[in-house]
Amino acid sequence: MLIGAHVSTAGGLVAAHERGRERRCDAIQVFNQSPRMWRPTRWKDDDIAEFRELMDGGPIRSVVIHAVYLINCASEDRELRSKSLASLVHALRMGDEIGADGVVVHPGSALKSDKGKAIERAAKVIAEALEESGRCRLLLEDTAGAGSTLGRSFEELAQLVEQAGGSKRLGICLDSCHLFASGFDVRTADGLKSVLDKGLRTVGRGRLRCLHVNDSKTKLGSNSDRHAPLGTGELGARGCAAFLSEPRFEKLPIFFEGPGFAGEAPAAEDVRRMRELRRNGLRSRRRRAKA
Ligand SMILES: [Zn+2]
Ligand SMILES: [Zn+2]
Repeated sequence: MLIGAHVSTAGGLVAAHERGRERRCDAIQVFNQSPRMWRPTRWKDDDIAEFRELMDGGPIRSVVIHAVYLINCASEDRELRSKSLASLVHALRMGDEIGADGVVVHPGSALKSDKGKAIERAAKVIAEALEESGRCRLLLEDTAGAGSTLGRSFEELAQLVEQAGGSKRLGICLDSCHLFASGFDVRTADGLKSVLDKGLRTVGRGRLRCLHVNDSKTKLGSNSDRHAPLGTGELGARGCAAFLSEPRFEKLPIFFEGPGFAGEAPAAEDVRRMRELRRNGLRSRRRRAKA
């Protein structure tokens, strides 16, 4: 498991890499631009080159880009869809330039429109984004299910993947807080196991490429996306430990997005807590296997 955190790119990619090192991350997630603005920004060529050199030298082994929040591939508004497409293409191209393992995106929201039609629209934009970009993977993140967001269930994620053409470049990113808020009881290792047994069969195990581990401020099935510092929310230490020790996540990057114990952004202390929770989770799995 590549333990990671979302880090700021203020000052550029090399600065982001440094933040990852300070936090002892194996992986980092970054925004490719301000997540609440459309205006595309790009990193400077020398910054990218130096970043790639740093990545080659370790200890950070994976970088993932989180796309802009404004994207709604499912919108009925043609202009919003075309802005979403442009933004996704830009993120995927940046992903290629920096050697990212994927671009994570929230698939979109049907708003007041018919869900089936919304999935069709989103899938079309996703397919186009892949066509207009190179190699970088696009990872659809499951959502907490607020409003009419798409991706609240494995069935919806699978539909999006299939209707977008099922490209090998399409994957999914599962967020522990979103799963829980969307009604999946992942508070224990057994609960998580049964959710994954069924869910990964639906979407295809090979599609799972990335994880977010966040605790949830709100209750099971609340459909509200409110993260809590690790171990302090409804998932609690046990739920986070189970998520951080799940065998099927073993080779994948897993990111804590915040808020942390001390502030919004994940800090070294939070990453330390991830490792501690992981150890606890592994220990209790071993104990149970022996019993
Ligand atoms: Zn997330
Ligand atoms: Zn969230």
